[in-house]
Amino acid sequence: MSHVFPRHTKSLPPVVAGGEGCYLIDTDGKRYLDGSGGAAVSCLGHGDPEVIAAIKAQLDQVAFAHTGFFTSEPAEALADLLIEHAPEGIERVYFVSGGSEATEAAIKLARQYFVEIGQPQRSKIIARKQSYHGNTIGALSAGGNEWRRAQFGPLLLDISHIDPCYEYRLRHDGESLEAYGLRAAQALEDEILRLGPDTVMAFMAEPVVGATAGAVTPAPGYFKRIREICDQYGVLLILDEVMCGMGRTGTLFACEHDQVRPDILCIAKGLGAGYQPIGAMLCSGQIYAAIENGTGFFQHGHTYIGHPVATAAGLAVVRAILDRGLLARVNEMGGKLRTALDAKFGQHPHIGDIRGRGLFLGLELVEDRATKAPFDPARKLAARIKSEAFKAGLICYPMSGTIDGRSGDHVLLAPPFILNDAQVAELTDKLVLAVERALAA
Ligand code: PLP
Repeated sequence: MSHVFPRHTKSLPPVVAGGEGCYLIDTDGKRYLDGSGGAAVSCLGHGDPEVIAAIKAQLDQVAFAHTGFFTSEPAEALADLLIEHAPEGIERVYFVSGGSEATEAAIKLARQYFVEIGQPQRSKIIARKQSYHGNTIGALSAGGNEWRRAQFGPLLLDISHIDPCYEYRLRHDGESLEAYGLRAAQALEDEILRLGPDTVMAFMAEPVVGATAGAVTPAPGYFKRIREICDQYGVLLILDEVMCGMGRTGTLFACEHDQVRPDILCIAKGLGAGYQPIGAMLCSGQIYAAIENGTGFFQHGHTYIGHPVATAAGLAVVRAILDRGLLARVNEMGGKLRTALDAKFGQHPHIGDIRGRGLFLGLELVEDRATKAPFDPARKLAARIKSEAFKAGLICYPMSGTIDGRSGDHVLLAPPFILNDAQVAELTDKLVLAVERALAA
């Protein structure tokens, strides 16, 4: 009997024994193509010798030194590298151990910033429906997925949720993409005015929505308008790139596509590529200066922030992404995967939308393509696809509740950047099999 508290008490997962490139291998020797990098984590694939060597070298030097006493060479070097490539104005990196810690720290930093600059009346956050920002109380409060939030409702912070920029479902017939992008962004200004502009401290959004909506990209001009609205009302823009950042969409930072400059930027997942648990919250020089010229310290911190081994792994991962030409590869292989998905599912009666950027792609399932009606949630279609895919030796990331936390189903794909042509074919063939078996059940 296992003493591990598992994710699901009624299913016993196989035991992982190894990882090789795009594959994970269980103790029975079965191989699984990692079509979602777990949950958009394993961007370099499994068993990368350079990252492993960097971790071992750091362990040989020093494993841990508390950041209350020391900084470390890998933390300094990784911060330098991230800032060298970060959007304009971003100047400091606060290392944490994962995505929820990054978004949680972002919320607290936004609040402390306004206290430091003498605007303590600003405490409200606006986020979006169907977003996911993590599972700690602040991060869960910011997230807009009803299914994840429901039972914890009484514990959550009072955060407003506006509609996402979700062209497939929310754009009107005959409305151009640009006009829809502006209309979707207008929801932010409306909410700021409703709450009272001088009470709002931040707007938080994923540049490309991942887990809860399935690679939903913003309409052109949406984030440009969002930035203008934030500037007009003195509201901080927090971009959560925990899932879509670090090369996943073909640029190191996902917001580069939309040419939007955040005040605070959260990354994790691909930063450690699964080799170490690490995340980071990056902030503007202006925010940092407010803390530096004010109390002088951010009232935050966890024991493992800036961990030398985690930052050594992150440094090796970001160097690999940049130096091995992997951003170009994401664009190339993302294009090939998209073409293969279009070929297999483009005319499928139950695939309503295929979307995404780079190697971050999603398929939304519908009962009826013409009306976009979703399947009955009782069919648990996403769960069935996940289990049929796993049986067939494919790891993908299906999820239900795409539309409103309850109805709708999608499959998210986020394979390693080293995916090759044969693996594109294997992934799509196995996904076709899984979808057909799930639909037939
Ligand atoms: N933010 C986004 C956009 C995510 O996708 C996730 C995880 O899926 C998180 C935050 C939370 O990250 P973690 O699971 O590392 O706490």
